[in-house]
Amino acid sequence: MIVVYSRGFEERYPTNPVESPDRVRLAAQELSWYEFFEPSPASREEIAAVHTAGHVERVMIRGLYEAAALAAGGAVAAARISLREPAFGLIRPPGHHASSDHSWGMCFFNNMAIAVKAIRPHFRKALILDIDLHFGDGTVSIFRWDPDVSVVNIGAIDVNFDYLKLDSSGYIEQVENALESHEYDIICVSAGFDTYRLDWGGMLDMDDYRKIGSLIRDASEERCDGRRFALLEGGYHQDLRYCIRSFVSGFE
Ligand SMILES: [Zn+2]
Repeated sequence: MIVVYSRGFEERYPTNPVESPDRVRLAAQELSWYEFFEPSPASREEIAAVHTAGHVERVMIRGLYEAAALAAGGAVAAARISLREPAFGLIRPPGHHASSDHSWGMCFFNNMAIAVKAIRPHFRKALILDIDLHFGDGTVSIFRWDPDVSVVNIGAIDVNFDYLKLDSSGYIEQVENALESHEYDIICVSAGFDTYRLDWGGMLDMDDYRKIGSLIRDASEERCDGRRFALLEGGYHQDLRYCIRSFVSGFE
């Protein structure tokens, strides 16, 4: 397994202070025994395949283009690597609240959508599994009319912040159901960790993340030649690095 990471992800940019560089800096230390790959920023064309010119311009005006394009580039690299071996994109800013012409929730460009579109010629059907606490409204809106890309949000609270009505076994059952009930030849994970017991979602244990990672690994090995990649989305507790490590230990 390859970890896609850049020191550029440790840059500060205008965002909510909870989305701090330490999220990825400390996680990179925790994953240091894996092979790392240094990505380049996503190209204008790769970004334009998902976002309107107006949205890109607004991101530029806010001084966020560089950070957002580098995260998207990390996502594209993870997706490309996953065609030969599994990859984890340890990237920030997150992306699943970015739709083609709008973004919110600490997201600017939709990393997952840019990555999936960039490798489009290499798959027939993709499954995007979003395990972040929050509903990935941006990703859902981008692929809403796309018959070849299924987006499943596991146990997500919706945009009105309704609380989870699941326990961890119900959550894991939803992951199993999603993996069983869709057709795909690549699995793409929007890996947010804010459902963690001590984070905002207050539910999943560290070991639940390992289980979720291994369910995804097993399904991809059985059904799509092991093609899988994950991209960091949310997760704000200081234990984020351990949640990521646990997920990756099942996912690798
Ligand atoms: Zn979230």
